[in-house]
Amino acid sequence: MVLSFMVLSFEDARRVVEEQAALTQSPGSQARPTEHADLLAASGRVLAESVLADRDIPPFPCSTRDGYAVRSSDLSPLPATLEVLGEIKAGEKLENIPGNVSNGQAVSIMTGAPVPAGADAVVMVEYTTRRDNRVEIARGAAVGENIVPRGAEARKGSLLLDRGLRLNEAAVALAATVGKARLEVYRRPQVTVLTTGDEIVDVRSTPGPSQIRNSNSYSLAVQIRQAGGEPVLLPIAPDEPQALRNLIEQGLRSDLLLLTGGVSMGRYDLVEQVLTEMQAEFFFTGAQIQPGRPVVFGKCGAGTLARDGASAPRAGVYFFGLPGNPVSTMVTFDLFARPMLEALAGMSPRKLRFVHAKAKSDIRVKPGLRRFLPAILSGEFENVQVDLVAWQGSGDVAATTRANCYAVIPTDRDLIPAGEWVAVMMK
Ligand code: AMP
Ligand code: MG
Repeated sequence: MVLSFMVLSFEDARRVVEEQAALTQSPGSQARPTEHADLLAASGRVLAESVLADRDIPPFPCSTRDGYAVRSSDLSPLPATLEVLGEIKAGEKLENIPGNVSNGQAVSIMTGAPVPAGADAVVMVEYTTRRDNRVEIARGAAVGENIVPRGAEARKGSLLLDRGLRLNEAAVALAATVGKARLEVYRRPQVTVLTTGDEIVDVRSTPGPSQIRNSNSYSLAVQIRQAGGEPVLLPIAPDEPQALRNLIEQGLRSDLLLLTGGVSMGRYDLVEQVLTEMQAEFFFTGAQIQPGRPVVFGKCGAGTLARDGASAPRAGVYFFGLPGNPVSTMVTFDLFARPMLEALAGMSPRKLRFVHAKAKSDIRVKPGLRRFLPAILSGEFENVQVDLVAWQGSGDVAATTRANCYAVIPTDRDLIPAGEWVAVMMK
């Protein structure tokens, strides 16, 4: 069998994934199933409805300070002495609020209370001295100071949260503000993880002298959950074509298939061979990155149908063949699988997140590949530094647990001297 090799630059490979991810969201593509979730359970989920303001926010002109509601024109010259009409606390019934604040008058007011008619500013209590029913005010206030006008944050009926938004704490708070105790969210896409390799054994087994335990299925399951998917773990596939094919066919019944291992150049790296026999379409079979160079991205179309129609896998399921080295698996998930998963989850995929930091010590690499090296970001404010973790290569999970980011080294550099700026990709 002749395998074709399509090794793309990192940028091209990423672009291809983003293009395919966008296709799954085009108007012609299948509608995604939705479900309803209680407000708290909806956090981290992807919104499948539009959330509108059920009333003006704020619903009344709102004081943002404890102090006195005044007419700003009364505050010159200073100090000004005003007559205090009464007090308005937060939650005060609107009918209890003094009818109108006239020239020379003020109302004691609390944060979150409705500002009475006639007043156009609130002076903070710190700048006032109360004497019986009079208050002396030491500072001026501009019109509107310390007041949020009715509807200034949102008008009744306006769109607050749109479909496709991943609900974080602020979005949940806004939904609560408008009385949405339940929200319609997209169902989590099912993502099947298929680990390959004759040397790999289950976490509950005692490995033989030349065997290792499966860790990739677990790191991937965690990343899938974080990205909004529901992981499904298949049994470990041996390096044998028929058994591998059977498991791939099972995996293609979910929304996305992630394979790990078996994509390098070894004689028993069978993933591409088996998928080629299944007439899969390949978008790339490698990217000029390290770790993770042998990463594969493709789609199994209708031609993939199993011989027995009953257990036929679905047409048009995307798959990634992630390299088996544990750190390569983690990095290539973040770089390539995540945007596709996010699109299948109904979100607009988020961009990679970068910051810049100064290299703490010299970074030396061989040029030619864009490198994503496990690193530690430390320091704060204006003095943020990044340092590579010492590691034994892309199999070294122990080193990666000490990292909190990846230092990204461009393809044309072999040395980044200490003190130079480095792009840092946040996990
Ligand atoms: P491969 O990509 O199959 O050539 O595997 C590359 C390296 O990653 C080998 O040293 C494998 O033993 C190791 N590896 C592959 N799959 C896993 C896994 N599921 N968990 C831990 N290590 C793995
Ligand atoms: Mg292998």
